[in-house]
Amino acid sequence: MPMFICTACGTQYPDSAAAPAQCAICEEERQYVPPRGQTWTTLAGLRGSHTNTFREYDDGIIGIGSVPAFAIGQRALLVRTPKGNILWDCISMLDDATVTMIKGLGGIQAIAISHPHFYTTMVEWAHAFGARIHLHAADKEWIMRNDAAIELWDGETKALWDGVTLVRCGGHFPGGTVLHWAKGAGGRGVLCSSDIATVATDRKFLTFMWSYPNFIPLSAPQVEGIAAALAAFRFDTIYGHYFDRVIAKDGKAVLKASVERYVAAVEGKRGYE
Ligand SMILES: [Zn+2]
Ligand SMILES: [Zn+2]
Repeated sequence: MPMFICTACGTQYPDSAAAPAQCAICEEERQYVPPRGQTWTTLAGLRGSHTNTFREYDDGIIGIGSVPAFAIGQRALLVRTPKGNILWDCISMLDDATVTMIKGLGGIQAIAISHPHFYTTMVEWAHAFGARIHLHAADKEWIMRNDAAIELWDGETKALWDGVTLVRCGGHFPGGTVLHWAKGAGGRGVLCSSDIATVATDRKFLTFMWSYPNFIPLSAPQVEGIAAALAAFRFDTIYGHYFDRVIAKDGKAVLKASVERYVAAVEGKRGYE
């Protein structure tokens, strides 16, 4: 039986004779059902309509996204460390070319995902590469296709290897996670912030929302909580969740300035109210 994929958020559901009546993730306030209504595809269907594209950033980080853009349109990152590769975040489209190329780069030893909007076809990726999937337990209700490869973690941080740490920041989702790589960016540190701390369109600031499509902000204490979760970590480069959303340097100072700007804005202290 086919495993249907929601075309609005990219989430794959367990096999079923007919498409699900609704997508639980898109029916919730942090996503949306498009005006055309709910539609579905499958991985076989996606392979006929889309292909993957790659961009190598500095220091062993390769972006993987789909063309044309599919669902939310995020790109994943292959974080390449000496002791193994980590797939950070995930995309729905996975084809033979992608598997062959990533295997040529050493495969994927672990998959870690920031929040449920990017769970997509994570189980397909885990099976293709024999990788474990690390998800924060606080968001487990949003796992639509369960699998033995999924490993839930609890608490505030989870260390992988080679200075790679998953850090729970919360905010957008209770288990909202970012990836910190201490040895990335030539040892200055990398933060993969996804849309838990979103790189703004001007790439000068980060911003924070509870619902991005429906414009519902986080509170000041929630955003200060994200800053507190990252206080102990050094980083220079910040990778957001789209190909072009990268803050190349001074990431730590950018986070501080961004949190101050955000808190001032939501507290009515920006000076142009
Ligand atoms: Zn959906
Ligand atoms: Zn999201």
